[in-house]
Formats: sequence, structure tokens, C-alpha cells
Amino acid sequence: MRRILMDKPIVEIDGDEMARVMWHWVKERLIEPFVDLKVEYYDLHIKVRDETNDQITVKAAEAVKRWGVGVKCATITPNAERVKEYNLKKEWRSPNATIREILDGTIFRAPILVKNIAPAVRFWKKPIIVARHAVGDIYSGTGLRFEEPGEAEIVYRSISGKEVRVKIGSFQSPGVIQAYYNINKSIENFARAVFRYALMVSMDVWFAAKDTISKVYDATYREIIAKVFEKEFIEEFRSRRLNYYYYLIDDAYARAVRSEGGFIWAAKNYDGDVLSDMIASAFSGSLAMMTSELMSPEGHYLAEAAHGTVQKHYYRYLRGEKTSTNPTAIIFAWAKALKRRAELDGLEDLEKFAQVLMDATVKTIENGVITQDLSKSVNQANITVVDTETFIEAVKKNLVKELEETGLIW
Ligand code: NAP
Ligand code: MG
Repeated sequence: MRRILMDKPIVEIDGDEMARVMWHWVKERLIEPFVDLKVEYYDLHIKVRDETNDQITVKAAEAVKRWGVGVKCATITPNAERVKEYNLKKEWRSPNATIREILDGTIFRAPILVKNIAPAVRFWKKPIIVARHAVGDIYSGTGLRFEEPGEAEIVYRSISGKEVRVKIGSFQSPGVIQAYYNINKSIENFARAVFRYALMVSMDVWFAAKDTISKVYDATYREIIAKVFEKEFIEEFRSRRLNYYYYLIDDAYARAVRSEGGFIWAAKNYDGDVLSDMIASAFSGSLAMMTSELMSPEGHYLAEAAHGTVQKHYYRYLRGEKTSTNPTAIIFAWAKALKRRAELDGLEDLEKFAQVLMDATVKTIENGVITQDLSKSVNQANITVVDTETFIEAVKKNLVKELEETGLIW
């Protein structure tokens, strides 16, 4: 059998627990038989991070910068329990935070749609992808409680010694204040990552805030994003018949519910936090039907599943039980990374393979062969709930059939 060729590698970042087990099943059973897979491999297993004092995480992120495309398995973010469980030197920080910091990337969360799971909003036919600016605002804000009557102001003291003062208010009774900030450069990079990603998936972009009320803070966001769009992206958007829209955030919520979906919703940090969880559960109710992609302002790309390591299932697996853990988001992460590699390197067969792999997975679920997590949300009479390996075999059957029909393999 002919295997599909690659040119440059993708960066493979391995992880922990049940996600890691599924990771290798997917790679060995659904990809390697068909693709002459080239990877640069980094093992972020919790013990390897511990042994290398977490330098392996930094190296993996740098490799993604070097090669432009990576795929990451879920990893344990250690807490006190994990330190005991794995006998670790310390509570290493979240690898995702380290990687996001090095790549200065924005996270895009996209639901995987199947016909037999109806979204909670009946108008939605296409995905709504949430892009969250995961930097600053209330997540690095400062709060203050006051008891006595008094007044408050914001003072900005620049290094040249100039002071700018703005009055917040005068108060007669106890209350609370919060201050937060963002950096123009970070907002610009967020805008670039969003517009780049939109061109990659051919979707319109919405950005929503409340600049009628927040006349300095939200207005700055609005201005910077519009400027990046007009200076760097407008022509390519026009030629691809794509658009960028700014909406007031309450208007955006109302429009989104009446829409068919099919756009990227760029959101400030807090809005994106709330919105992404709502969108995830409104589309399918399972974290295993959601991908997470990181795009840097330079176009470096990392795909992963939105779910974690699925710890509880892993302990059952270790006891020798068959688990019905859903590998869909992991399959999509691999496929999306291969697709990105193929687009960058102009490899048509690889691009087609990636699409066929995603289609075969969707088809398997639509044929009623599903894992346990979907049993309540699937809206169909004849379903077969299977364990993970049986599900992967069913995907493989559909994949082979489709690959033969399209002439990609013979
Ligand atoms: P989780 O691994 O996402 O799992 C939470 C629960 O969601 C599971 O117990 C399971 O529910 C369900 N679930 C998640 N993925 C599933 C799948 N593919 N198929 C079927 N069911 C699935 O989150 P967690 O238990 O909070 O975290 C476990 C570890 O993952 C932690 O150490 C955390 O640090 C890490 N984590 C890593 C990432 C990442 O690297 N991107 C993200 C989140 C968490 P049932 O048990 O009810 O079946
Ligand atoms: Mg949240």
C-alpha cells in the first residue's frame, strides 16, 4: 500500500494518563498506516517534566516556533496530590500556560458538529468558534475594600516622573474597587492571531464589547482591532469575501442566538472565559467534542483536545478494564495539525487525508457507533455504545473505505 508523504515534521507533544493511551492508539491505528508520518517528538509525561526541571516544556514550545505546527496531548497540571502520586520535586506550572506564553498565542475553541446531536439552539448549523484574549483584565486585576468615607483615584506615574490622575469617585459608606489593565501590543497580537485564524478556516470575525459605556477601556480594544484589520487584513478578507464586524456585546449575544453559526467570536478575557464554556455545552454537552487550537501572531499553530487527561478513566484502564473514553477530539487534533502542515507545505494528498479522517470520525458517530459520554445527547434510536478501541476500529473502517474511494491509497 502507498503511504502519503510529508515533507517537514510536525511537533508531537506527548502527555499523560488516558489521553496519552488514546493518543498512541490514534497515531498507530489511524495515521501511521496511511501517512509516512514525520514528527519531532517531545515527551511531556509528568515524570519527564520533573526529571528535566520542566525544560522539556520550553523545548517543545521552541520546536513549535521552529517548525510552525504542533499537536499536543493533554498533560497533568500538578497539585499537591499529584506531587505525592508521582513523587515530584515540586508543583510544576501548567505546561499550557508555559507554551502559550512562549508562543504568545490565542486559543480558539471549536465544537465538532455531528448530525445526530442537536445543539441547544436549534438555528445553529455551523460552529461558533470562541477566541479568548487570555491575557490581563480581571485575571491580573487588583481589588480593594474600603470601610470609611473617602475618595479614590487612579494615578499613573510614568518613568519620566509625570503623573496622570483620574478620579474614580467619592464614597460615603463601605464598598469595593477593582483596577485592571491590558497592553496595546497584546491586543494587537490578539487581533492578528484572530484574523490569521479566520483566513485559515474561511470565517467572518465578530468582536463584541461595550464601548458605549467603557469609553476608554473597551473603546481602546475596538480601535486597535479595527486598525490591525484595516492595515493588515482588509484586502485579503475582501478578496475572500470575508468580513469583520464589531457589535455591542448585548447585541452580539442576541444575534448569535438567532444566527446559523459559522463565525469566530473574538472576546475579551472574561467574556471569552464565560462564553467558551457556554458554547461548548450548548453545542454537544461533551468536552470530547471540542478542539482547542493555539495560533500565534506570527502564524505558529498548535492543535489539541479541549479536555484533560481523563484521570478517572485511566485508573480503570490500569485495572485492566475497557473504558469507553471518547477519542474524537484527539483524532481531530492530529487531523488539524496535519491539515495545517499540508496547507503550509502545499501537500494536497495530506490535506485530503486530514479531511477524510475527520469526516470518517463524524460518520462513525452519525452511524450510531458512539462512546458512553454521548449516549445521552445523541438523538437517534439505534445506537451502539462501544469501548474506545472498538470506536477507533470503526473509524478506521470508514477511513479505509473513504480513502479507497477517493483514490488516496490503494
Ligand atoms: P478531564 O480530564 O477533562 O475530565 C473530566 C471528566 O470529563 C472526566 O472524568 C469525564 O467524565 C469527562 N471527559 C473528559 N474528556 C472525556 C473524553 N475524552 N471522553 C469521555 N469523557 C470525558 O478534566 P479533569 O478530570 O478535571 O482533569 C484531569 C487532569 O487533566 C488534571 O490533572 C488536569 O490538570 C489535566 N488537564 C489538562 C488539560 C490540558 O492539558 N489541556 C486540560 C484540562 C485538564 P466521567 O468521569 O463522568 O466519564
Ligand atoms: Mg471558563
